Amino acid sequence: MRRPIPVAEPNLGPEEEKYLLEAIRSGWISRGKFVDQLEEQFAAFCGTKFALSTCNGTAALHLALHSLGVSQGDEVIVPALTFVATANAVLYTGAKPIFVDIERETLGIDSHQIEEKITERTKAIMVVHLYGHPVDFDAVKKIALEHNLWVIEDAAEAHGALYKGKKVGSLGDVACFSFFGNKIITTGEGGIITTNDKVLANRMRFLRNQATCAGGNYYHTEVGFNCLMTNLQAAIGVAQLQKIKQFLQRKREIANLYNDLLQDVPLILPKEKDWAKSSFWMYAPILKENYPVSRDRLIKILRQKGVEARPFFVALPRLPFLQDNSLYPTAYEISERGINLPSGTTLTDEEINYVCEVVRNPLGRHQLKR
Ligand SMILES: *Cc1c(COP(=O)(O)O)cnc(C)c1O
Repeated sequence: MRRPIPVAEPNLGPEEEKYLLEAIRSGWISRGKFVDQLEEQFAAFCGTKFALSTCNGTAALHLALHSLGVSQGDEVIVPALTFVATANAVLYTGAKPIFVDIERETLGIDSHQIEEKITERTKAIMVVHLYGHPVDFDAVKKIALEHNLWVIEDAAEAHGALYKGKKVGSLGDVACFSFFGNKIITTGEGGIITTNDKVLANRMRFLRNQATCAGGNYYHTEVGFNCLMTNLQAAIGVAQLQKIKQFLQRKREIANLYNDLLQDVPLILPKEKDWAKSSFWMYAPILKENYPVSRDRLIKILRQKGVEARPFFVALPRLPFLQDNSLYPTAYEISERGINLPSGTTLTDEEINYVCEVVRNPLGRHQLKR
């Protein structure tokens, strides 16, 4: 019997155990040297001046937005297709997420549709490098400059992805990453914020630690947060970051292998723009009209065959608390037809071959063995 094939499992080894044990034995479990190391090394990896760790990626987005001054009555432009956390972080500040449809090829925000959504209340544009492919950043940046808006990158899925040779996380005013268990690298729960803006970095450092004044004994001048990463999480993160190049290489090999094996199947296969290098966080093809079964049926068939697959995110304006009066045809269509196939770095080529056998022939005889 083969093992169930997971959609994305963490890739942990003896280095993670060693650093974690070191953190435990040192007694430094909340603050500690691994937190400093992870921040220094992640900033170097992204090519930014600063990196600030947080307890998760959602908290990172919230802290970044709040620290930029986004608040009640403001609007933040976000893509209609992303994980719910992108919009939730906006809502926590009291601001309203304003959706813009996505473009088919990058699955990122369609810059041509941004300007019609800008009002006097708009404070920021939050882009998402969905499933690891960078957005067409220059087009967004141009609009942001013209309208004096912040640009925030939700890079939760895109550690190491490149836009015109530059690392994502170094493109916008500020960027947020997630270290959840299924992301490119993990700390269990965890997140990190990158920026080149010293004033913003200091503001975020202050606010993430209960707005504690320097040298003041329990003196606080405003409402702060506690969204710090523990030294235990960071110990795992330092070990993970040492292996990120291998992980990204393996993700790319997996995507290439899928693309080879699925070429003649009625799927739209993920393709990088010539200016982009994806992190290939999730291998994310889209079923064409003439694919033999529906997306949801395919997921069920895969599950019966011991393969875990996931649907694309539900387009956010379809969620009851995020509905509005506009239409987002591309986001709706792609959300309904997209699938995430197993993409973890622990997968073997043989396992990918097996997944492709089922995807190539979902109604094939092997299905009846059940
Ligand atoms: C994972 C993810 C987040 C949230 O990260 P957590 O660490 O789970 O809080 C935010 N945005 C996107 C696009 C994500 O995929």
